[in-house]
Amino acid sequence: MTLTPLGLTRPASTTDALVQRLVARVPGSTGATWTLTEVYTGDAVVELPQSSPGDIEQAFAVARAAQRKWAATPLKDRLAVFKRAHAIFVDNARTVADLIQVESGKNRRMAIEETCDPPMVMSHYLKRAAKLLAPTRRGGPVPLLTTSTEIRQPKGVVGIIAPWNFPFATGISDAVPALMAGNAVVLKPDNKTALSPLYGVQLLEEAGLPAGLFQVVCGEGPDVGPTLIDNADYVMFTGSTATGRVIGERAGRNLIGCCLELGGKNPMIVLEDADMTEAVQGAVFGAFGNTGQICMHIERIYLPESRYDEFKNAFVAKAEALDVRASYDFGPDMGSLVSVDHMHRVKSHVDDAVAKGATVLCGGKPRPDLGPAFFEPTILEGVTKDMRCGVTETFGPVVALHKYGTVDEAVALANDTDYGLNASVWGGDVDAACAVASRVESGNLNINDILATAYASKGTPSGGLKSSGVGARHGDQGLLKYTDAINMAVLKKQVMGPRRGQTYEKYVEGMLSALKMMRRFRIR
Ligand code: NAD
Repeated sequence: MTLTPLGLTRPASTTDALVQRLVARVPGSTGATWTLTEVYTGDAVVELPQSSPGDIEQAFAVARAAQRKWAATPLKDRLAVFKRAHAIFVDNARTVADLIQVESGKNRRMAIEETCDPPMVMSHYLKRAAKLLAPTRRGGPVPLLTTSTEIRQPKGVVGIIAPWNFPFATGISDAVPALMAGNAVVLKPDNKTALSPLYGVQLLEEAGLPAGLFQVVCGEGPDVGPTLIDNADYVMFTGSTATGRVIGERAGRNLIGCCLELGGKNPMIVLEDADMTEAVQGAVFGAFGNTGQICMHIERIYLPESRYDEFKNAFVAKAEALDVRASYDFGPDMGSLVSVDHMHRVKSHVDDAVAKGATVLCGGKPRPDLGPAFFEPTILEGVTKDMRCGVTETFGPVVALHKYGTVDEAVALANDTDYGLNASVWGGDVDAACAVASRVESGNLNINDILATAYASKGTPSGGLKSSGVGARHGDQGLLKYTDAINMAVLKKQVMGPRRGQTYEKYVEGMLSALKMMRRFRIR
C-alpha cells in the first residue's frame, strides 16, 4: 500500500505482489523496462518489461504450439472455459476496476462499467459460437449430385493491439471470440495500461484456458508493432486513425486480414421536440464520461436555434457542478486524463481554439491541484474548422456547441467530417429521430442515448465508417472474422462435360436450358 501526496491510498487489492506477478508474464529478455505509474499521483507502480523482437517471435512460437492443441479441442470444451470465466470475471470485477483506475486514472463508475464488457461478450458468443462455427451444408452446382460445405477454420494466431482508454475491454473482449473460434492470441496493450489485461489473462487461465495460448507482449507501438504484425495471421487493432493506417498498410503487405477500430469526431443532434432534461444529462455523459476518452463520445453538439440557450444554460450548469477528483470510490463524476502528455494535447486543442476566437463557456484549464493530469470539463462555443478541435479528435473532456437552422443543415454539419464512428440523435418522435439519424454517415447511430445502447448490443456489428475504421466487432462477423471459410465440395458422379457421343453444341444446349429451369423453379 502506498500513501500518496494527495492522501490517496492505492486500492488494497493492487498489492506489489499482484502487480509483480502480472508483469512477470511479459517477456523481456533484454532487461529493458518502462515505469508504469499511478495516474492520480504520478507514483511508480511497477517496472514493465519491454519485449524485444526475439521475445515477440518466441511468444508467437509458444502461442502457435498451444493453438494446434486448442483448435483440436472439441468446441464444447473450449466454450466451457468461457462459461467458467464469465463467473470468475464477475466475481473479480472490483479488483479489475482497482487496476483499471490505478493505471488509467478514470473514475470508478467507468472502471466498473468497463469490467462488465468481457462477460457480456462471453455471454453473447456462448449463445452464438456453436451455430457460427458449425459446418454449413450449401447446395452444390448440380442438385443431388453435388454438395458444398462451408467449414470455419481458425486463422491461427491473432495479434491484438489495444489502446489505453478501455484497456481491459479492448484487450480481453476482442480476444474472447478469437479464442472461442480456436485461435491463439498475442496481445500488445499500451504500456500505460498493461495491468488490467494481464489480470484478465490470469483470470482466463484460472477458468481453464491452456497456458501459453494467450500471450502478452509489451513495448512502444512502433518498436513492437512490426514484429507482431509480421508474425500474426490476423490483426485486431483499436486506436487512433493515424496508427490504424500504419497497421493496415503492413497487414495488407503481408496479405493478412485486419480489423481497424479507429477514432471519431462524434456529433450529437438535438431535435426541436427533444426532452431537454434528458438530452442535457446525455450530453454530460457524452462529453465528460471517461474524461472524454471514449472513442464513441461526443465532441460536437448541434442544437436548434429555438432551444439553444435553454440547452446551453442547463448544460453549463451541470458541467460546472460535476464532482471532479481523484478517488477510488464511486463518488466522483469524472476522473483524470490518462497522462500528463495527453493532458497537454487536450490543453493545446483548447488553447488553439481560444486563440482563433472560440469562447470558453466553462472549464478550459488543467487542474494540477487535483492530480498531474486533470483537466476541467470544458464547453466551447464558436468552434470553426480552422481550429484543431474543429476537425480532429480531441479525446478529452472538451465539447463544442453549434446552432442549426434546419434539420438538413444539422445533418450536413454532422457529416462534415472524415470520421464516421458514432452519432447520437435526440427527439420526442422516435421515428422522426431515426429518419434523421439514418442520414448521418456513421457506423453507430444512437437514438435518445449517447453510445451505450449501440455498444452494449453485442448481437449487432459495431464499427466505423469513413476514416473511423475497417470491419467491426460484435455480431456474427465479430467472431467469423477470426476464421477462414473453407469450401469443401463433393461431386458424387462425374456429369460435367458432354456425354459419350454427344456433340458439344448439344451439351451446351442442355446446360443452358438446365440453367433456365433451375432459375425458374428456384433450385439454384
Ligand atoms: P494509438 O493509435 O496511439 O495507440 C493504440 C495502440 O497502438 C497502443 O497500444 C500503441 O502502443 C499502439 N501503437 C502505436 N503506434 C504503433 C505502431 N506504429 N505499430 C503498432 N502499434 C502501434 O491510440 P491511443 O492514443 O492509445 O488511443 C486513443 C485512440 O483510440 C483514439 O483515437 C480513440 O478514438 C481510439 N479508439 C477507438 C476505439 C474504437 O472502437 N473505434 C476504441 C477505443 C479507442
